[in-house]
Amino acid sequence: MKALIIANWKCNPTTQKEAKEIFDAVKKGARTVKDAEIVICPPFLYLPLLKGLTLGAQNIFWEDKGAFTGEISGVMLKDFKVEYVIIGHSERRKYFNETDQVINKKLKIAISANLKPIFCVGETLEEMQGEKKSEVLERQITEGLKNISRENVKNIIIAYEPVWAIGTGQNCSVDQTMSSILLIRKIIFKLYNRELADNIKIIYGGSVNSKNSGEYIKNAGVNGLLVGGASLNAEEFIKIVKSAG
Ligand code: PEP
Repeated sequence: MKALIIANWKCNPTTQKEAKEIFDAVKKGARTVKDAEIVICPPFLYLPLLKGLTLGAQNIFWEDKGAFTGEISGVMLKDFKVEYVIIGHSERRKYFNETDQVINKKLKIAISANLKPIFCVGETLEEMQGEKKSEVLERQITEGLKNISRENVKNIIIAYEPVWAIGTGQNCSVDQTMSSILLIRKIIFKLYNRELADNIKIIYGGSVNSKNSGEYIKNAGVNGLLVGGASLNAEEFIKIVKSAG
């Protein structure tokens, strides 16, 4: 299985010129890559400008259309040849009050639009220190996947992103990551079945760089990586992609 390396540009860069420059440099570097699938998730506005690599969005609205000022829907994204969508990122949970229920609606509409959801879960620092990680992951996954069939869950990628590791430089250790990945597989087993638990794609995100990326792929049992800050530097991002080979 090819490793899935996803770039989350967040609200960056600030001009289309820079966006094109980063994208073109990644595209050039990706020419020699065989063992990884690259997905770039830029801000919505840049999606139509970037061609030649697989694209993902960073958010989606829970209806297809209607009187919802400022929102962008899954059918619109699909019309722009977008293939993936990040749902439930901790920054959306924190700054935009996205609840497990909202995330569940977004996962359902993404599936109905034929997009592949990248479903983010992970505990905060307080939750980790309070030994609540298992409880939090179980709640986020159970509520997030509520009433989503086995057939549809197959197309979801779960991103384990401990909130304390995002943008902090404090990446989660390989051992801790591995135990969280196993825990997530156990939750999927409980909710669905063994086949799905074994086969659902689970990726890691949180302060990944070219020095630690290879370790996750080789030793933490992950199927790929979600890369924030480091994905804005094309050279560094390509090194990460190559380390997954
Ligand atoms: C992210 O935003 O999903 C992320 C993992 O960010 P960073 O790599 O900067 O920690």
